[in-house]
Amino acid sequence: MDRSEGTGHFIRDLIAEDVKKGTFGGRVHTRFPPEPNGYLHIGHAKAICLNFGMAAEFGGLCNLRMDDTNPSKESEEYVEAIKRDVRWLGFDWGDRLYYASDYFEQLYDYAVQLIKAGKAYVDSLSPEEIRAYRGTLTEPGKESPYRNRSVAENLELFARMRAGEFAEGSHVLRAKIDMAAGNINLRDPVMYRILHVPHYRTGTKWCIYPTYDFAHCLSDSIEGITHSLCTLEFEDHRPLYDWFLEQLGVHHPKQIEFARLNLSYTVLSKRKLLTLVREGHVRGWDDPRMPTLSGLRRRGYPPEAIRAFCERIGVAKRNSVVDISLLEHCVREHLNRCAPRVMAVLRPLRVVLLNYPEGQVEELEAINNPEDPAMGTRKVPFSRVLYIERDDFREQPPPKYYRLAPGREVRLRYAYFITCVDVVKDPQSGEVVELHCTYDPATRGGDAPDGRKAKATLHWVSAAHALEAEVRLYDRLFLVPNPDEESDFTAVLNPKSLEVLRGCRVEPSLAQAAVGDRYQFERLGYFCVDPDSRDGQLVFNRTVTLRDTWAKIEKKLQEGQE
Ligand code: ATP
Ligand code: MG
Repeated sequence: MDRSEGTGHFIRDLIAEDVKKGTFGGRVHTRFPPEPNGYLHIGHAKAICLNFGMAAEFGGLCNLRMDDTNPSKESEEYVEAIKRDVRWLGFDWGDRLYYASDYFEQLYDYAVQLIKAGKAYVDSLSPEEIRAYRGTLTEPGKESPYRNRSVAENLELFARMRAGEFAEGSHVLRAKIDMAAGNINLRDPVMYRILHVPHYRTGTKWCIYPTYDFAHCLSDSIEGITHSLCTLEFEDHRPLYDWFLEQLGVHHPKQIEFARLNLSYTVLSKRKLLTLVREGHVRGWDDPRMPTLSGLRRRGYPPEAIRAFCERIGVAKRNSVVDISLLEHCVREHLNRCAPRVMAVLRPLRVVLLNYPEGQVEELEAINNPEDPAMGTRKVPFSRVLYIERDDFREQPPPKYYRLAPGREVRLRYAYFITCVDVVKDPQSGEVVELHCTYDPATRGGDAPDGRKAKATLHWVSAAHALEAEVRLYDRLFLVPNPDEESDFTAVLNPKSLEVLRGCRVEPSLAQAAVGDRYQFERLGYFCVDPDSRDGQLVFNRTVTLRDTWAKIEKKLQEGQE
């Protein structure tokens, strides 16, 4: 991976310093620890790029770890999707795919060790009582009457919890720290709770499950992680992370927090994304309107563009909202370089060239990508009957409309100058159904030998040769920049986020297109072949339009600074 343009950030600096000082023997070992209870999204991409990126940059390793300690919402489907998405994004965990659930036995032993050291106890208060005893930010907590149970009694009760003798909520194992601690996380946090729920990997072997705070630090420790990078909401949990590892005297990684990615017009909480899927607001986790990696992939976002985006937003310690147009800008930047240009007509209007010989077909040369001559050229068939974009013709052109109109001449890209001589309408509805035009044979290739200019160049396809296609146009999924601020985020869904166009026509070279291939449809935007495509019926997703709002924002910012 190209890390050469990496920008500086505080985590890179901290790790560089550790490497220089020889902390952890100069080793760098990170991990990406998703919980398999949903699909990965663009926010996770930030964490993935950071963890794998730092490891790669410092010659270290990065593990993929399923943080699967909460059986009620986890599944194998999510595990497989997570693996696919991390790989697609361009990262490799080698043979280091781990599961927190593989550590259950060891975690249990650690818990027993803490009980024996008088650092953990079985509490038998109800969940409501535990909450009430915890106190508030301004009031200290109250000690549980069970706090001073003997080691022997705690060991026995904990063993019986494991054996399945108790109902959910009847007992928990808690760390014995300090009920008066200013940091509420240190007020005897729960380490284990009883859950009579089978786990997708361990089945019914366990009915007690460790909490995040207990499992995470020890999973990091077991794997020999050096730098445990996590999002800001865990900052207040760091003293606890450190406490468990210190009490047990085991390998002690450094937890470092960074701000999570928030994106305008987008929700990134798994719970909310699950709601969108469950309630049918989208077609699934990989709906091209979803900010999931599988959705972005289906939409046509290249992994390179997502990595470039993660690099550009950087890593900071303060939460902020990133403008979604920056992500779209990165996608355009990549596709502009890599995507072949083709011609496609989304809303076809028939054009008959009256003076073009019936039955004649010319193969005209078209450039595949003006940004990259190495991508070469291709042949596009031209004939007497064509389609142009309905929007490229106006019977009564408004001011500054330079495209086709009665009596007016325009250029057809790579082809000829044509002039509109007649308009055919549906006698009933009055709708324009066909244009009659003449072409100028002297302008082959699109240049007039007498130097006359065309004010507009239109894309087109040959009616007899074009392939029919369905094109799906996407707009923002939400109407407001910050849907997370709404009490009901589904109330601000954009009802027009999907528009399906059928009967579109694309040039015949696309007969070779495979699912996932990305193209620029000239003048229209970038499009990607959808898996719904069948033989003889291509389906395209619009990835992004050509209009780059971020470039405008950036320009304004620069002007403002001058
Ligand atoms: P939830 O949406 O329920 O809070 P989560 O997004 O934290 O869940 P995890 O599976 O726990 O889901 O996330 C895995 C890793 O990705 C964690 O280390 C987490 O900090 C990181 N992560 C999650 N969301 C973001 C985000 N928006 N930006 C950066 N990192 C994120
Ligand atoms: Mg989480």
